Amino acid sequence: MSAVERIPVVIVGAGHSGLAMSRVLSEQSIEHVVLERGDVANTWKTERWDSLRLLTPNWLTRLPGLEYEGDEPDGFMTVPELVTFLERYADHVDAPVRTGVTVTSVSRADDEYLVETDAGTWQTPAVVLATGPFNRPHVPAVSAELPPRIDQVTPRDYKRPELLRPGRVLVVGASATGLQLADELLRSGREVTVAVGEHVRMPRTYRDRDIMWWLDQLGRHDERYDEVDDLIRARHVPSPQLVGTPDKADLDLNALTDRGAELVGRLGAVNGSTASFAGSLRNVCNLADLKLKRLLKTIDQHAGLDEGPRPEPTRVADAPRVLIDLVADGYDTVLWATGFRADYSWLDLDVLDRKGEIRHDGGVVTGAPGVYRMGLNFLRRRKSSFIHGAEDDARELAGHLTAHLALV
Ligand SMILES: Cc1cc2nc3c(=O)[nH]c(=O)nc-3n(C[C@H](O)[C@H](O)[C@H](O)COP(=O)(O)OP(=O)(O)OC[C@H]3O[C@@H](n4cnc5c(N)ncnc54)[C@H](O)[C@@H]3O)c2cc1C
Repeated sequence: MSAVERIPVVIVGAGHSGLAMSRVLSEQSIEHVVLERGDVANTWKTERWDSLRLLTPNWLTRLPGLEYEGDEPDGFMTVPELVTFLERYADHVDAPVRTGVTVTSVSRADDEYLVETDAGTWQTPAVVLATGPFNRPHVPAVSAELPPRIDQVTPRDYKRPELLRPGRVLVVGASATGLQLADELLRSGREVTVAVGEHVRMPRTYRDRDIMWWLDQLGRHDERYDEVDDLIRARHVPSPQLVGTPDKADLDLNALTDRGAELVGRLGAVNGSTASFAGSLRNVCNLADLKLKRLLKTIDQHAGLDEGPRPEPTRVADAPRVLIDLVADGYDTVLWATGFRADYSWLDLDVLDRKGEIRHDGGVVTGAPGVYRMGLNFLRRRKSSFIHGAEDDARELAGHLTAHLALV
């Protein structure tokens, strides 16, 4: 067995969060290693669908020490472009990444931590968990009731429409992922039904500016975790219905209806081959429309302008179906766009709550001094899980980490 290596900091994960933390630690000459089970940007290389583009514009794609320098600041990167950006970043900041090293356990070793991997063991007083917020697609328990003849696909496995069987598709979930995949399937000629729960509607542009520009101007991205009224709620707000395409088109439920989608309420239960859906579709859509109006009004007020153009309210059928016999109606596939969860199965520390989420105070892990988390939704700010959110979080957590190292 190889000897245990000692090092002041181990960062687990070489996505943008781990690389940003690496850069900030290097600025302070703090020795560290970044352990990555795949390659740099592994998640983007292996767990995303082919047509995906960022929904944040290029000018927002920045990390400590590197900004977008291309000639399309208002464009949206494809996944291969983002992978290149992150690989360039890792080189640019000279991140000490060890690729192909899977961390299999992090456990206590007196006042320090033992980081065990399939390529050796590290002992360290500080560990940064930058392993991503979205490791496992969340699939509701009701999935177990679906008849075996219906394929169940998650956004992690979905790559392109041709790989699905030819029948109808039920897309469950109407946030960014659900809408983008439903749209792609409709454009490929599929018949698609979308089960719509709570969602956040946003126009791509408003008053000739990208909505992300307005949110930035309003200071929304910078709202802090210790300033919001309901942090648990803020951490679970669905992703906005946005897509980043060259034509800067809106992607909302009306756009899907125009392309032939059927909208139904939130999926409740499955009995035999019959799926039942909540009867609250209209209310859910009204609420999203109302929140959108409020956002646009806030923008108008911020800009000191009269009321601007308002998007058409979401169109909902008079009596959306509440029961569908999936087999009789020719559905081959259910696509679960129902969110993701982090995976901590390799973490041998008593730091998870009863829902399996890590307990932390703005990324400072509770009950494990010297352990930090990066990249979660609203970790320290609303922008924390976005690429441009990593810098502020890394700097603040690195400050905490440095103080911890000074004590040990
Ligand atoms: C569909 C989708 C679209 C998104 N679009 C945008 C967008 O437009 N703009 C934006 O700013 N953000 C977007 N995000 C959010 C966010 O930028 C990504 O989720 C991003 O990948 C998170 O970066 P990260 O570095 O925290 O985690 P990841 O990129 O997931 O990196 C974590 C790394 O840790 C490694 N790892 C995990 N476990 C281990 C282990 N046990 N041992 C060793 N290595 C391990 C993984 O291989 C991976 O490389 C999107 C997310 C999704 C899911």
